Amino acid sequence: MINDDQLTTEQFNICRLKATEPAFTGKYVDCKEDGIYHCICCDTPLFDSQTKYDSGSGWPSFWQALENYVAENIDNSHGMRRVEIVCRQCSAHLGHVFTDGIEPTGLRYCVNSASLFLRDRS
Ligand SMILES: [Zn+2]
Repeated sequence: MINDDQLTTEQFNICRLKATEPAFTGKYVDCKEDGIYHCICCDTPLFDSQTKYDSGSGWPSFWQALENYVAENIDNSHGMRRVEIVCRQCSAHLGHVFTDGIEPTGLRYCVNSASLFLRDRS
């Protein structure tokens, strides 16, 4: 686990202050490499690359989170009712989950690249 002072400013602003990276700027938006996406803060596995898809939104999108590792909170900020997703282990803000995703779940986990790092499956 890394400490908050080891995060970049961007990572800190997103994971701890719930900022959102600008669309189409994150390093994993178009990433198609195989592996497991882990929490940048605590290394918890969060998403499998096999559930990543191109949503056109400008953020990495997944139709499923790894079971039990991603928690949800109701987020009423910015005049919207959204469901925030956070790392269950360290509460890092990841993004939001929407119901306009693809089958088989119909969900779209919309995640900031800065909250993730991709690691080989092993
Ligand atoms: Zn975490």
